[in-house]
Amino acid sequence: MAALAGLSVVAWLAAQLAGGKLVVGLMITAVVITLIIETSRYRTLRHLNLLRRQAQTSSALGQEITANPDFTGLLAAVVNLLQTEFQYDYVGLYLLDENLLVSRLAQVGQTVPLLSVGDFLDTRQVIGAAALQREAICVNNDLCELPGITPALLPRMHSELALPLLIGQKVLGVLDIQSREAAAFDADHTLVLQSLAAQTAVAIRNAVLYQREAGRRHLAETLYDIGLALSGTLNREEVLGNILEQLASVVAYDRAALLLHEDGQLEIVAARGFPPDTQPLQIRVSLNSDDPDDIYMTIHRTEKPLVIPDVTKLPGWTHVAGLPEAKSWLGVPLLHDKQVIGMLSLVRETGGAYSHEDTIPATTFAVQAAVALHNAELYNKIDQFNRQLAYEVEQRTQAVLQLARLDQAKTDFINVAAHELRTPLTTIKGYSQMLLQEKIITENSLQQELVSGIYHGAVRLHDIVNNMLNVAKIDNQALNLHFQSVSLVHLLERIHLTLASSLAERSLLLIMEPTADLPEIEADVEGLHTVFSHLLMNAIKYTPDGGRIVIRHKLIGEPSPSHIEVILSDTGIGIPPEARDLIFSKFYQTGQVALHSTGKTKFKGGGPGLGLAIVRGIIEAHNGKVWADSPGYDEAALPGSHFHVVLPIYQS
Ligand code: ADP
Repeated sequence: MAALAGLSVVAWLAAQLAGGKLVVGLMITAVVITLIIETSRYRTLRHLNLLRRQAQTSSALGQEITANPDFTGLLAAVVNLLQTEFQYDYVGLYLLDENLLVSRLAQVGQTVPLLSVGDFLDTRQVIGAAALQREAICVNNDLCELPGITPALLPRMHSELALPLLIGQKVLGVLDIQSREAAAFDADHTLVLQSLAAQTAVAIRNAVLYQREAGRRHLAETLYDIGLALSGTLNREEVLGNILEQLASVVAYDRAALLLHEDGQLEIVAARGFPPDTQPLQIRVSLNSDDPDDIYMTIHRTEKPLVIPDVTKLPGWTHVAGLPEAKSWLGVPLLHDKQVIGMLSLVRETGGAYSHEDTIPATTFAVQAAVALHNAELYNKIDQFNRQLAYEVEQRTQAVLQLARLDQAKTDFINVAAHELRTPLTTIKGYSQMLLQEKIITENSLQQELVSGIYHGAVRLHDIVNNMLNVAKIDNQALNLHFQSVSLVHLLERIHLTLASSLAERSLLLIMEPTADLPEIEADVEGLHTVFSHLLMNAIKYTPDGGRIVIRHKLIGEPSPSHIEVILSDTGIGIPPEARDLIFSKFYQTGQVALHSTGKTKFKGGGPGLGLAIVRGIIEAHNGKVWADSPGYDEAALPGSHFHVVLPIYQS
């Protein structure tokens, strides 16, 4: 302007000197030329100024980007920078997620944003149009105004420029700038801001990548720590509490609950962040609901996490009285064995607090949580099972002790009864034997028969009493054995001789297989005599007339035998499978007591059921074994029985 004034003065002076019309014309021409030069100089200066500011902003933006790798800080820095450098009245930065939903925002110049977090884009709005058409959109400016777009100007604003933040064809967000001036954005401004928007988009993309990477690293470390923390206990209640505590280090929440399936319902089993006076544990959600909007059912059905940016807009959401109002919600299924066993429910009191990004760490966490829960459930079951087992073992131990006490009482009774019976029996036996030798008796056949009956009855009773005493001794481990070299062959032959009359009476054939190489064994001769007498008498008793009894031997142990096995087989009535072991317990008989005959070797003569108990006691005292085997019990088919006795050749 100083040049213009100077030129005007020079032109006026020349006109004064020349005093003519030509001079006036020259003067006007000079003024116009000067005006043109000045305008273009002003434009150039303004343009240069804009470029300078762009360069400054760009460099400052670069510094902010380096200083703020953190996302939220970066957004705030960008809007502040643009506002201070260009003196705009409003700068807003709206970030969008995959669904073009506003996920984050930063703004300066106004308190209320044009769009809130969680809002969907509207194509009729400037921000929506810029994002969807991927180009700059203006309001109150012929340059880039589009028909059909509703201006959404903030109070007292007159022009708006919305610029998409693009990486290739991907829209990361929108930069919205507003001014109180009308038509504030010319082509130069738009170009400069577009270039800054492109720089911002790259910075945001890098910040996202940085954050994602840092998040992944942090998540990996956190999940490792969480894994350790969750596996630190198997107590179900502790695991439930731990899960919600550890969850906070993965995804932030104001309150969270853990819901598990119980009888077709989702029941809250643990909660955190609820005020102490609320009762969140009573909330139950039905899994039979057919409401398509039911968020719990949706997670159950899809087996995927669900983000609700604003639950207050959800028709079915019930606000629990006494709790601060929930805004954002994140639900994560707990899966085990491809089945939803429950879910995590996270609430924030601010809107749009959860994004798709949060579902990834939350889902990874849920996998660990489900494993920890499953382990705790298993442990719980095993623990319960162990307790039940311990209880049952205790019950059985008591029962066994009781049985042992009863058994001891029985043994004591047998012992006392046998001792008490033995003395009078010995007297009866002795006197009847003496009577049988008296002349007065021998001369009278009837009296002789009577006294003989008394004598034989006393002998039989004596045998039974001896058996009772033997059983008592075995039970009290008071058998007095004298080990010496015993020839089993001789022993069995001796017994054979004593039983010869019974065998003949019952037309039974006793066969002893050849025993040439049978060594002598170390044993108590009287004990073994009792054993084989009982076994042979039983074979006689339980084999019908005309049957066969066979005795075989086997040497056991290679190359030098250590044991001898004696097998007594008969062609008798056999033993039912369920009784094969029981017959060795005292007082056990398979036949009916009422059918017992008194004969020692009569068919099915029965006895008090002590014989085999004595046999087993004596054999075990010899460190041997005895058992019976038989195809079964059949009085018609006569399958027979085999009694096996295994005795060591030497006693250690
Ligand atoms: P008992 O005094 O009744 O013979 P044991 O202890 O000798 O008592 O035998 C117990 C039961 O075992 C007998 O009542 C009988 O039912 C069964 N038993 C024993 N030996 C034989 C056998 N050789 N054949 C079939 N049953 C037998």
